[in-house]
Amino acid sequence: MNTVTALPELRAARRSLSGTVGFVPTMGYLHTGHISLVQAAMAECDHVVASIFVNPTQFGPNEDLAKYPRDLPRDLAMLEAAGADLVWTPTVEIMYPSGFQTWVEVEGLTRPLEGEIRPGHFRGVTTIVAKLFNAVGPDKAYFGQKDAQQAAVIRRMTKDLDFPIEIVVCPTLREADGLAMSSRNTYLNPGERQAATVLFCALSAAKSAFDSGERGAEKLRALVRKTVSAEPLAKLQYVSCADYDTLEELETVRCKALLSLAVYVGKTRLIDNFVIG
Ligand code: AMP
Repeated sequence: MNTVTALPELRAARRSLSGTVGFVPTMGYLHTGHISLVQAAMAECDHVVASIFVNPTQFGPNEDLAKYPRDLPRDLAMLEAAGADLVWTPTVEIMYPSGFQTWVEVEGLTRPLEGEIRPGHFRGVTTIVAKLFNAVGPDKAYFGQKDAQQAAVIRRMTKDLDFPIEIVVCPTLREADGLAMSSRNTYLNPGERQAATVLFCALSAAKSAFDSGERGAEKLRALVRKTVSAEPLAKLQYVSCADYDTLEELETVRCKALLSLAVYVGKTRLIDNFVIG
């Protein structure tokens, strides 16, 4: 496995890869969810390129940029074991040199949900992903369903800016008790870790109501609220039952919908979602 930092090095290493390239962008502190994206890329492409970059522009001023967990040696060992060919670990100075002032912004899809709570977040995401796409030039890029709105926004950007890249969205990997794997789970103390299963429980309660015939979106949202409110360490930030493609809130679930929520467990903000219908 080749690990590079500087842009010219990345470009040279990329040129030496013949055949199709699958790309897995990450912020590091890898877990099995990230590795599942690498495995999906390995199965479909001749080579796999991963990036590790904690992107400062997608964090708000009061968010966890400074304490975001990092462990580069462990990440590189995991990527090597998974079979990645090339890992790019750029610095903030490489991605945002002094004088940087160009941004990529997707409009409508970034307004609700995470976009409403985290102003500027998706502008940071789309700008960095566009820059990573330009530098790596992959045939396919792999994202997790865990960040459902992010995947939708990236798909829109890729289409709108004519990137010749296929966006592949992979299922959310979960711990045995249902908690979606996330680098941020590391912030949870043992009591909070236990309480964090409430996201999965709340989504499961709504999903089983849906499976039993409930189609009222507000009824499904109410079930999520009720489940989360029963957990003293958890505080619901939002719950949404929205059209899968437009992310507009629904009254009735008639076709594919995204049931999503954001919850504070102690000081840690966690998100999760199920696709229903
Ligand atoms: P991050 O390092 O958090 O920016 O995540 C990098 C990529 O891994 C994103 O496409 C995420 O959606 C994806 N990802 C994060 N957690 C999971 C998970 N539990 N299962 C599958 N993919 C995930």
